[in-house]
Amino acid sequence: MRVLKFGGSSVSQPERILMVAEILRDYHSQGIEFAVVFSAFGGITDSLIHMSRLAERGDENYFTHFEAFSQRHFHAAQALLHGPFLEKALPELENNHEVLKNLLYGIFLVREVSPRTMDYVLSFGERNAAYIIAHVLQQIGLPAQYLDARKIIKTDKNFGNAKVDLEMTYENIQDHFEQFSDIQIVTGFIASAKGGLTTTLGRGGSDYTAALLGAGLNAEYIEIWTDVDGVLTADPRKVKKAFTIPTLTYAEAMEMSHFGAKVIYPPTIQPALDQQIPLIIKNTFNPEFPGTYISEKADLSAQGTPVKGISSIHHVALLTLQGSGLFGVPGIAARLFGALAQAKVNVILITQGSSEHSISFAVEPELAPKAKKAVEEAFDIERIGSLIEPVKVEDNLSVVAVIGERMRYQPGIAGRLFQALGKNGVNVVAIAQGSSELNISVVVNREDEAKALNVLHEAFFLSDTAELHLFIVGVGLIGSTLLQQIQAQKEFLLREQALEIKVIGLANSKRMLFQEKGIPLDRWSHELKASELPMDIEGFIARMKRLNLANTIFVDNTASQEIASHYASILEASISISTPNKIATSSSFDQYKLLKTIAKQRGVLFQYETNVGAGLPVISTLNDLILSGDRIRKIEAVLSGSLSFIFNNFAGRPVQRNRQGSPTAWVYRTRPKRRFTWSGRKAKTDHFSPRNGNSLRSRRGNRSAGASRTMR
Ligand code: ASP
Ligand code: MG
Repeated sequence: MRVLKFGGSSVSQPERILMVAEILRDYHSQGIEFAVVFSAFGGITDSLIHMSRLAERGDENYFTHFEAFSQRHFHAAQALLHGPFLEKALPELENNHEVLKNLLYGIFLVREVSPRTMDYVLSFGERNAAYIIAHVLQQIGLPAQYLDARKIIKTDKNFGNAKVDLEMTYENIQDHFEQFSDIQIVTGFIASAKGGLTTTLGRGGSDYTAALLGAGLNAEYIEIWTDVDGVLTADPRKVKKAFTIPTLTYAEAMEMSHFGAKVIYPPTIQPALDQQIPLIIKNTFNPEFPGTYISEKADLSAQGTPVKGISSIHHVALLTLQGSGLFGVPGIAARLFGALAQAKVNVILITQGSSEHSISFAVEPELAPKAKKAVEEAFDIERIGSLIEPVKVEDNLSVVAVIGERMRYQPGIAGRLFQALGKNGVNVVAIAQGSSELNISVVVNREDEAKALNVLHEAFFLSDTAELHLFIVGVGLIGSTLLQQIQAQKEFLLREQALEIKVIGLANSKRMLFQEKGIPLDRWSHELKASELPMDIEGFIARMKRLNLANTIFVDNTASQEIASHYASILEASISISTPNKIATSSSFDQYKLLKTIAKQRGVLFQYETNVGAGLPVISTLNDLILSGDRIRKIEAVLSGSLSFIFNNFAGRPVQRNRQGSPTAWVYRTRPKRRFTWSGRKAKTDHFSPRNGNSLRSRRGNRSAGASRTMR
């Protein structure tokens, strides 16, 4: 026996219901035994709540919403059913709508909606949906039978979030299924208390209904059918490379769902976990896809990564209680959290260092003022004695958590996490890890949330490729060649290095262009020309910083002093720089040292090469020599390719002299018959090539400039 559950989005439109019917027909024809739980049509529970609230306020508009509700169900029935099936279904729907109408009118009259009445109102969503679908299934020839879950699921009278009497419920389920062998089409979410009063199991409670049925029937699986391909490694809206996690343990699944991966409703897992019934998360719109398999077994295969998923809470506030009065005093934590409990403030995360100087805790931002007040009142006496400071509130934070059962006992996970964040300039405000090592949570600034998620997704090998984000200024000879090279090497880099290079920002002296998805490199020049943004280097850099992307590199292909003057601030923002611009590296030594220091502190790269010697990797050669223990005492070189060329080929006679008789121009020969003149200007350095001269000369004579030992 399997229990299947389809959520609201799987049945929000008649066409979708037909897709569900197809899936069920398929199961049936394979001889699989199953029961199905349905949520209300997508959006219906919210609209029932809304119309009740309007009626409660005496707002007649509730009726419009009621009419939309009844129309939606009638239309679905009419679109899906015909003949005797429609005739059979309509009276029940009419009856439901009549009762609901009266109920709402009652609320409107007394201007009050109690949780008990609300539960009754909400029950119509699930009841209508399951009733219509049961008839659709009958119509396509399945032996389907509508089952109102209030008959079997028994709860206390905690309306809105009732507690299930498991023993009685399991017994009822077994009795019912022994009696009826047809496919049971069950209303999710709703149950009943003693005396037949309608209750609900809390928002999203249909999953729980499915788990209860699964446990009661000792099902082989519980399948949760939704509109995504399972539990994803991260929120796909924030991490484009997120993908479906094939297997999870119950514990991992709970952690993931606590943290916004709202595919499953955490308490759902409990009955399944008690009986060790595997859960499968499937996509109604992609039924062939295997989805996510959740069981007690951890994935120990070689492909299994220690981190299974990365999750976040977009907005939290962090409150800190600190002061000398906390140290070594037992009972502080009890008082603190007691006060919060009394104020009904839920605590999301807690951290205290061993100095006991402060305790920080995260709460929902709306609750922060209430929490601050409650804590300050609780520590009134210490506050008067200045033993404790006023509670510090930091708003605008996010919690990002990495989750995985295999992080346990494995060193290096936290190291990798903090290194990845640090290198990308994400400041960690607070940290929490329980000794279960199932979840490491870090509190970061809200604007860093998406970046942190992406960076960690890459760091833990969840992404199959790493993404580099380039911001390029200057598209002259060097810049356009670079773009051409990136374009040409793209596939190779992706294939061999799992590296994806995206040019996000591009500018010449007139215009700038930004495309977050990456500027198409075959059309960059058109796109740049078409851009309406005038170039302004400050704006360019500000935008680059604001985009706050992981692995950002600023590429300066200009020879501009002004642009070089921004390097420090770019490196400060944890953005690497790569440049052939010689200004920053050949001006004041202090400035150069400053840039190197910032880059080192921020853990980013400041890359430059061939500021001298043009096409030769002079700097990396020097670096290699130094690293292997050589000391450079002296560099003797002709740093100009043109000059070097001339010196090597000079065999001419002066053709022009100044008044003092010194030569100012020569004629010389390169090859027979070709004549060049050189006018005595300062030579340019950038026509050098290893073939036409020696840039670095050793005293032992000229060597090829590419030779490794060219200096002493
Ligand atoms: N329809 C209910 C809700 O929206 C129950 C569920 O969908 O699971 O909360
Ligand atoms: Mg739901």
